[in-house]
Amino acid sequence: MRRKLAAGNWKMNGTKANLAELDAMKSTAETDQTDVLICTPATLLSRAADAVSGSPIAVGGQDCHANASGAHTGDISAAMIKDAGGSHVITGHSERRVDHGETDAVVAAKSEAAYANDLVAVICIGESLEERESGKTLDVVGTQLAGSTPDAATGANTVIAYEPVWAIGTGKVPTLEQIGEVHDFIRETLVERFGDAGNDFRVLYGGSVKPSNASEIFAVSNVDGALVGGASLKANDFNGIIAAL
Ligand code: PGA
Repeated sequence: MRRKLAAGNWKMNGTKANLAELDAMKSTAETDQTDVLICTPATLLSRAADAVSGSPIAVGGQDCHANASGAHTGDISAAMIKDAGGSHVITGHSERRVDHGETDAVVAAKSEAAYANDLVAVICIGESLEERESGKTLDVVGTQLAGSTPDAATGANTVIAYEPVWAIGTGKVPTLEQIGEVHDFIRETLVERFGDAGNDFRVLYGGSVKPSNASEIFAVSNVDGALVGGASLKANDFNGIIAAL
């Protein structure tokens, strides 16, 4: 039985003052008994880890370098995320793929760095609007899934997040049928590659998830939770999403 996961991605948002939002998520996370994760900006991670200590909320990073250390100005390693109190790291978010030219191979290497440091990698995949409109969604998702997921991936060290790029931050959400089609495809592909163990991976949906649409999305087959951007910044919104799981 896969446990549901409500994961938040604060992106490049948040200063110390926002840690109060984490506090206000604690009681919902406790009563709802689902897994809750917030990936903060690197600058807040250590403080966020202190703020959620003793609660079921986990914290993580939004990216890591593939290397363990060295001359990579501005980057942070998986070991640094672990040291700051993180348990997870997002790899291959579409904003990183676009802004920083990250390829599937880079995403796989970053995910391996996560495993080497005992972090769970939240590997993101998803098609652009142009790819969807030209009927290439499953091809693109299949290629990204194959190339970004290391052979060492398991349901314990990896979460897959399906995030159609055109649904991120736009308020546009695929139909429930479209979400189901891709999630079923991801599940089948994982089972083809990893055998029965492919059933252990949690597959999250991401892209304009809000308290108002969360319940219906979570009811779709093979949707094991959500990766949430904008609506994870305020406890009022995110608590509604946790409760919908
Ligand atoms: P959004 O972002 O919820 O603001 O659409 C989702 C994401 O990028 O993870």
